[in-house]
Amino acid sequence: MAEAEYRVRCPSCAESFAVDAAMRDDLLAAGCVLCGASLSEADFARLSGSSSTS
Ligand SMILES: [Zn+2]
Repeated sequence: MAEAEYRVRCPSCAESFAVDAAMRDDLLAAGCVLCGASLSEADFARLSGSSSTS
């Protein structure tokens, strides 16, 4: 199962949602799923979970 690792905020439509690493790559390649705006790595924030796995 995929867990959300990042939160992306679209600079175009201002929508934010959590994604996992694979979906992050898809979004970087294909753009926002809602409005199609291109996204950059700066639009993604690493989620800091309560449990840390190292
Ligand atoms: Zn968007």
